[in-house]
Order: sequence, then structure tokens, then C-alpha cells
Amino acid sequence: MGSLTQIEPPTYTLAEGCPIADPTTAQRVGSQPVKGLLLLQDTQLIETLAHFSRERIPERVVHASAAGAWGEFEVTHDISHLTSAKFLNGIGKKSNVLLRISTVGPERGSADCVRDVRGWGMKVFTEEGNQDWVFNSIPVFFVRDPIKFPSVNRSHKRHPATNVHDSTMFWDFHVNNPESIHATMALFSDRGTPADLRHLNSYSGHSYKFTKEDGSFSYVRIHFKTDLGVKTLTNDEAVKLAGEEPSHHTADLYDAIERGEYPSWTMFIQVMSPAEAEKYRWNIFDMTKVWPHADYPLQPVGKLTLNRNPTNYFTDIEQAAFSPSTLVPGIAPSADPMLQARMFAYPDAARYRLGANYQQLPCNHPVSEVYSPYQRDGAFRYASNYGGDPNYVRASVKLVKYKGKLGANGQADEAHDDWIGRVSAYSSEVTDEDYLQAAALWEVMAKDNSQDNFVYNVSQHLQSAAPHVQQGAFEMFSRVRPDLGKRIEQATTKAV
Ligand code: NDP
Repeated sequence: MGSLTQIEPPTYTLAEGCPIADPTTAQRVGSQPVKGLLLLQDTQLIETLAHFSRERIPERVVHASAAGAWGEFEVTHDISHLTSAKFLNGIGKKSNVLLRISTVGPERGSADCVRDVRGWGMKVFTEEGNQDWVFNSIPVFFVRDPIKFPSVNRSHKRHPATNVHDSTMFWDFHVNNPESIHATMALFSDRGTPADLRHLNSYSGHSYKFTKEDGSFSYVRIHFKTDLGVKTLTNDEAVKLAGEEPSHHTADLYDAIERGEYPSWTMFIQVMSPAEAEKYRWNIFDMTKVWPHADYPLQPVGKLTLNRNPTNYFTDIEQAAFSPSTLVPGIAPSADPMLQARMFAYPDAARYRLGANYQQLPCNHPVSEVYSPYQRDGAFRYASNYGGDPNYVRASVKLVKYKGKLGANGQADEAHDDWIGRVSAYSSEVTDEDYLQAAALWEVMAKDNSQDNFVYNVSQHLQSAAPHVQQGAFEMFSRVRPDLGKRIEQATTKAV
């Protein structure tokens, strides 16, 4: 019984519910064949045109272009010694999930397979509220001071005068903010051009805390590794596919799920004690650094499976809003300045894009009970709005329904968070230490024979940059390895 075999046409109505005679024609004065004038009283015509002009909501300034699907997360390993989060406790426990995977810089509707980091917005619907994980497809980020976040993103986007992507601008940023070298190496590895969205990993990048009810905690880094294995495109394959099949990643994910080939990922954590964090050689609040596997091996936690396509892209994926501040009891933020800044910026972006009550939208709404009477009213408040319950704190009148435990989340619950100090500027100093993990990645690429591709990928992008910026890039890569700078210089000169 599909719509093609439908015999009875539906009764069309206005959005207010009043039936209309025919949604396919406008009303006119005058009879055929003489064409008459249109009428302002034709509410259906006016509404149709006016609504069309308002179909778009503000595009995300980053992560605008995306695909997504619904699925489930299942716990496969016991980590009750690390976190009290209920959805992570109990082997076999399952929670529903919404996942949105995006490019970062390109606008909505641009080609899926261009070189970029992929964003990973994941919402787990738990009995204790939503848990959002807003990760990336590479384990590190370009900057560690959040004030640089708009800058790095603008340098990857369009030039303010020409409105064209500009490699001078791109490399000028990285050469002069070289703490980005590690993430830039990851971006220009073949992992910067994933074959599709089913064959990529995602990483928390930030250190988070897993907490227990007694106030103790561990630092963790979280990894989702594809069970299908990482698969990438070469630079030339990605360029070709971007032209020939610009929506390839979106279509591939959708079609695979329709065929019943559900992609899955294994969730792992790396775990570090607060005492170890004090002494560790890398600052664990620095998002430009990984925790090497040899020091902190991956421990399996669970399995994510995508098994249901959106029924409507706009309602399920475009209206979805994710934030690193959306945390259940048992998971808490660390002092990473990038994480702290994102905890403000993401809900702020959602309020701008979707309005003050975006959490009420079906794709964002928790499955657990919500009682938040100090967030009321605002545009598009369509739920009960807490009726006559007090709208001010410490009311002596009753009617407060809330029976949950207060203060379970976001509490500064241990001495480690007793930060005291002078106000100072975040140090922008970049030292040789910042090149060590980039050099480690260069060695990883030697193992899978992808060094030649890396050099080619960089040279293809760098060839159109201004000469003094190119020179700066050669010097930056020479600090990773002298021979790497030389190879990139030779390849770039040859490519021009
Ligand atoms: P390992 O040799 O233990 O791990 C290297 C990891 O690099 C692999 O496990 C894989 O991550 C990832 N990798 C493999 N091939 C490539 C490639 N061509 N491009 C990008 N990443 C690749 O070493 P360490 O843990 O000491 O890390 C060495 C370097 O590896 C780091 O400096 C970092 O750049 C990169 N890396 C490290 C990760 C970490 O969390 N330690 C995670 C990802 C990359 P995976 O198993 O996740 O697929």
C-alpha cells in the first residue's frame, strides 16, 4: 500500500486545519480562457509562498553539511568502577542514539568528500537525561586557546573579499599558529578524505572525567572505532568524487541502512588517574596532544550501531542540536579550556539557530522526565510550560513535582578542582614539544606507506599559496622532520 496506489485523495487543509478545495491552483477573478487577476483573499496561495520563503533556518557557521541516522548504544564491558552513569552500567544495557556526521568548513549542500575533519554529534537518550558527545574524526584539534576558534575556522573557509577558498589564508593561519601542526598533519593524511561515513573513527579530543557517586573520578579520552575498518580516498579520488557524486557520503550511509547493512563502531576509553595527570609529560587539557596508546591502552566499553534512517532530514538531522555541556551524572567536564568554551558556544549556537526552546524539538527531547521550571516561556513554547508551578527559586508554595537528586551533575566535588591563581593570558608559546606528536604521526604514516600521499596532499593545497606563506609552511614541516620540509618543498615546486 504505497502512495502511488492511493485512490482517495487526502483532505488538504491550511496549517490552521481549515479544509481547502484544491492545493494545486490559485484563485483568480475572471473566467477561462481569459486569465484573471489573483486575489489577496487566497490564503492558501499567500501561505504557500510566504512559508516557502521561510523554509530555511540559519545555517550552522561550522558543521553545516551533514548526514545522520538513528541507532543504539549497547554496553559490552563493565566500567562501573569508573562511572556512575546509568547508561554505561550493566552489560547488555541499550540506549537509543541520534548521530550526525558533518564536514566542518563547507556550507550546507557542498560536496561531502572534500578534505576536512568530520564532526561527530552523538546524542544518547538515557534515563538520566541526554548525553551528547561532540567529537571529531581526528584525535587532536588545531588550537588549544578557544579565542582562536573562529580564526582557524575562517581561515579554512572563504576569503572575505573574493568569497573563494584561499590557500594563502589557510596556510598563513597554520604557519603563524603552529600549535596546529599535529592536527594539520592528521588533516592532510588520507584520513582527511574518508571513503564514506561508515569507515571513519571519532575521538573525544578533550579529556573528560568519569565520576562516581563518592566524588572520585578518572580522566578519560573516548574513541569510537569503526568495526568496518578505516577506509580512505586518495586526494585525486576525493576531488573526482566531489564533482561526480557530491552527496556520496550521505547517500552511502542512507542506502547501507536501507539495505540492512547497519554500520557499527566500538567505543573505547583511555583512563588516567588524577595523580597521573599531575605528573604526565603531556598536559592532558591540551587538545593538540593525544595520549599515546602505549601509555594508556584502549579499553572497550560498548558498541554503537546505526539502524534507522531519518524519516525527515530537517526534523531529525537539521534541527538536531548537540553540546559538550549536555552531560549525565557520572560524566563531567575537565579543565580543558577548549571544552569549557565549547560548553558555552554550542548551546549558544543552538539558541540562535533554533530558538530558546530548542530542547523541546522531538529530535532533541530527552526520554527521561524534564522538570526545569526556571526555563519557561520564550518563542515556540508548546509544552505545558509548568502550569502554575513557581517560576522563582525557593518558593514556599508547593506544587514542585521534582523528586530527583539535586546537584548530581556539574558539581566541583573534589579538591582537584580547587583552582586558585592569578589571571593571566593563555600562553601562545609553541615549542619543539609541539612537534613531537606530529613527528610520531609521520612515523605512523611510514608504517602504512602513506607518507608519499601525505606529501602530495599537502603540495596540491599549498601550490596556490603566496610564496612567502609557502616558505613558512616548508619551515614548519621541517620542524617535524628536516626531510619532510624538503620533500614538501620539492613536491610543491613541481606541482606549480
Ligand atoms: P600508535 O602506533 O599506538 O597508534 C597510532 C594510531 O594512529 C593508530 O592506532 C591509528 O589510530 C592511527 N593511525 C594509523 N594510521 C594513520 C594514518 N595514516 N593517519 C592518521 N592516523 C593513523 O601510536 P601512538 O598512540 O603513540 O600515537 C602516534 C600518533 O598516532 C599520534 O601522534 C597521533 O597523531 C596518531 N594517533 C594517535 C591516537 C591516540 O589516541 N593515541 C589516535 C589516532 C591517531 P586508530 O587506532 O584510532 O585508528
